[in-house]
Amino acid sequence: MKRHWYEYLWIWSIVYFGMGFFNILFAWLGLISFFLPLIFAIGFGNKNFCNRYCDRGQFFRMLGSQHGFSRGRDMPNWLKSKTFRYSFLIFFLGMFCSVIYNTYIVFAGVKNLNEIVTLFWTIDIPWNWAYTVHVESWIAQFAFGFYSLMLTSMILGILTMLLFKPRSWCVYCPMGTMTQMICKLKSNEKI
Ligand code: SF4
Repeated sequence: MKRHWYEYLWIWSIVYFGMGFFNILFAWLGLISFFLPLIFAIGFGNKNFCNRYCDRGQFFRMLGSQHGFSRGRDMPNWLKSKTFRYSFLIFFLGMFCSVIYNTYIVFAGVKNLNEIVTLFWTIDIPWNWAYTVHVESWIAQFAFGFYSLMLTSMILGILTMLLFKPRSWCVYCPMGTMTQMICKLKSNEKI
């Protein structure tokens, strides 16, 4: 059966993290994955991005379903609960705001550029080899911070894929929760 071009978008997940490993400035490209689901939800009021175009969702399905890396178990109910999903969304947005804040204080000259990637919001890993093309410090600071966020969420998604069903990350993915909220609001507007 002929496959559609968008069924290969999972490759972008690998390319994105690979590029950020060698040059942190590519981390900025992650904003595409950040804003596209929102643009789809606001513009069309549907979850077509998640269902069809999300590289990350496809990546988990490819590893978990096609290559059998997933145990295929159901997630515990607390992970699926609204309380957890909304709390995680708030936490994630808080962490995104802290990336913006750190970018701002570097821009304002209050703090020097920190060439580290922080995993799980606590583990600092030196990442200075990936800062080879020097630009304004705040541009690089945002890249380090945003890459940290993207890598942490990717690792969480992989762990969830291994332990539970392949696309279990999508149950509590902050972008998925946000787009779901937007779609609900838009469908209520139509009533
Ligand atoms: S829920 Fe998140 S990871 Fe899953 S398909 Fe949607 S945007 Fe992608």
